[in-house]
Amino acid sequence: MTTPDWDILVVGAGPAGSSAALAAARQGAHVLLVERRQQVGLPVQCAEYIPAMLKGQLGLKGGYVVQKIEGMRTHMPGQAVKETVAPGYIIRRELFDQALVAAARKAGARVRCATRAIAMRPEGDVTLSPRDGRAYTVRPKVIIGADGPRSTIGRWAGVVNRHLLPGVQMTLPLAAPLACTEIYFDPQIVAGYGWLFPKGKVANVGLGMLRPSGGQLSLRKVLDGFIRRLKTDGKICGAPLAHTTGWIPAEPVRNAVHGKIMLAGDAAGHTHPITGAGIFAAVTCGKLAGKYAAAAVAASDMTILKAYDREWQDLLGETQTRAHCRREQMEACWNVFDTIIKQCWVAYREYYV
Ligand SMILES: Cc1cc2nc3c(=O)[nH]c(=O)nc-3n(C[C@H](O)[C@H](O)[C@H](O)COP(=O)(O)OP(=O)(O)OC[C@H]3O[C@@H](n4cnc5c(N)ncnc54)[C@H](O)[C@@H]3O)c2cc1C
Repeated sequence: MTTPDWDILVVGAGPAGSSAALAAARQGAHVLLVERRQQVGLPVQCAEYIPAMLKGQLGLKGGYVVQKIEGMRTHMPGQAVKETVAPGYIIRRELFDQALVAAARKAGARVRCATRAIAMRPEGDVTLSPRDGRAYTVRPKVIIGADGPRSTIGRWAGVVNRHLLPGVQMTLPLAAPLACTEIYFDPQIVAGYGWLFPKGKVANVGLGMLRPSGGQLSLRKVLDGFIRRLKTDGKICGAPLAHTTGWIPAEPVRNAVHGKIMLAGDAAGHTHPITGAGIFAAVTCGKLAGKYAAAAVAASDMTILKAYDREWQDLLGETQTRAHCRREQMEACWNVFDTIIKQCWVAYREYYV
């Protein structure tokens, strides 16, 4: 059975998908948002930092905030700690994602959880598979793929993330409260970094790096070593309370509109290729995708979708391109870590030269 009555199908209820659904529904489009998980936002796969300005922009009720962050402290071997102003918040990511979905629903989007987009026919019909029911087909005018780093919709459009860095993280008790995020560079964390993000009485401690090959230590062993170091430094204590993993795209700028498919967030490779931060970009680009999708539907003119590529690239293209160049440099020259590392991290002037 085909249901032809959706203007826009949004796949994935992360920050990109909910923001897209919210923007499109506010413009009067008939929006269906599907999410394969039973409960939005769970399990959490995130270190849970957002920049302060994002909270201001969203204007959601702040129940998802755990603590304020004043800045970032970068630890580099053999160097003084570098302090950078980086106001933000550590959030409960599942509550943040749920608040965004609630806003999209309130604006009129229909939300179906435990429903996976599984196939697209040549004419653009999409098969949705609910966990507890029979698969059915919808015929949206526009499809927004906001389905994360290993996007199915991206595959349908013929554009996949080629460079995915693995991230691993444990949550542990903090020895004492902290007001800054802490970033650690170490030759063993190959072409990546370790993080300690304070979250009230606990901390998210993790790392993202190149996938180990041959003789390199496994990611888990590198994380164990990093945790031992933080314990020795007196920053954390006790046993892990939670564990998560995930993929972080590190992609160059590329177009996100392909026929009637638009991609947003991790699915489009919008994540920052050096910091791995992606929530701000997901919300920003999701909103834009929703705005242009609704405008195209209202005008019955799919050429309007292309304006999405222009606008997000105007906003994020330069930052993204610089970060991607730095990533290539970091990966190619990791064997001369000391000489390149300041050019490859956002806290240093050399990064911007
Ligand atoms: C370990 C780790 C730590 C991180 N820490 C931070 C941080 O502190 N700050 C920050 O800004 N960024 C961080 N990131 C990156 C950030 O989490 C992502 O950039 C962000 O989640 C991207 O949002 P999104 O909406 O594009 O994708 P996602 O949040 O991945 O949402 C995609 C959604 O699509 C759903 N989905 C997938 N396939 C289908 C399908 N076929 N049908 C239906 N639904 C589907 C998924 O279940 C998921 O809910 C971190 C990433 C990792 C891995």
